[in-house]
Amino acid sequence: MIHLNCPICKSNRPKDQAIFKIKKGTYNYQIVRCQDCNHIYTFFDTDIDVSKLYDEQDYQVRDTKGTIFYSIQKFEYEAVLKQIMKIIDTKNSSLLDFGAGKGLFLNFAQELGFKVKGVETSIPRASYAQQVFGLEIATNTYNGGEILGGNFNVITLFHVLEHLDQPKNLLKNLVVNNLNPKGLLVVEVPNILSWQAKLAGKHWLHLDIPRHLSHFSEEKLFNILNDMNLTIIKKEFFSWHLGVIGMMQSIWTWFGYKGFLIGDLKEKKTIILMLLIAISLPFAILLELIASLCNKGGVMRYYAQNKIS
Ligand SMILES: [Zn+2]
Repeated sequence: MIHLNCPICKSNRPKDQAIFKIKKGTYNYQIVRCQDCNHIYTFFDTDIDVSKLYDEQDYQVRDTKGTIFYSIQKFEYEAVLKQIMKIIDTKNSSLLDFGAGKGLFLNFAQELGFKVKGVETSIPRASYAQQVFGLEIATNTYNGGEILGGNFNVITLFHVLEHLDQPKNLLKNLVVNNLNPKGLLVVEVPNILSWQAKLAGKHWLHLDIPRHLSHFSEEKLFNILNDMNLTIIKKEFFSWHLGVIGMMQSIWTWFGYKGFLIGDLKEKKTIILMLLIAISLPFAILLELIASLCNKGGVMRYYAQNKIS
């Protein structure tokens, strides 16, 4: 694929001055701002097989059960579920996780009493969710309409929208055809205006080009949800696993690090790496906590409810 147009308004007029120019391998990318709607997105004019990049090591399926990552994710996802349960009555409630990955979130939601279903187009991930957790997962690409019977009380999308060519259209289709009146939508994406993004510039962990096509700001995400007639009930800017690790990489870039920390953690767990993590972790947590209090955390999580029509 090539990627020239704004994912939100489809305009082909990026501002002349790129925010960043990034070379990866033999490919050149630009992070640009749309002249028409101000959205920030990844621009590239050479043909790149982005789907192939999802098979790379960073995205490979691993069984993390019993590891510290699993415990952190469990803690984090359960906090999100508790927030959902403050708004939606769990009893007989159905939940759809769009982009369910290995099914961790759905598994925890099921344990708390939700009737859960998922969508995941990566076959290795979907198989993991089906086999390890016994979950019902649709694997076909979504082009609109009802999913697995539709009529959900809760729909969640964790780090999905930034990967899509047309995030606004997909979200609208998904919500109109699948979310109940008074149903709750939970969306989490990286925050391009976060302190960690500013600190690291083109080396920000969650820039993740070219897999990330969109780079959302607080205002843009608000506008998308607001245009869909949803009421935003709560915004959160803190994530233990993605926010803190993003801030840690940003701090390291200050000292010259140019790697991809999530990849290094999976591939080269050396003593030095673990030591550096232990030393910088308290700073990363503290800085990220302060940033999130100023709405400048590395990720944004919005809870938005369907208005009663
Ligand atoms: Zn635009």
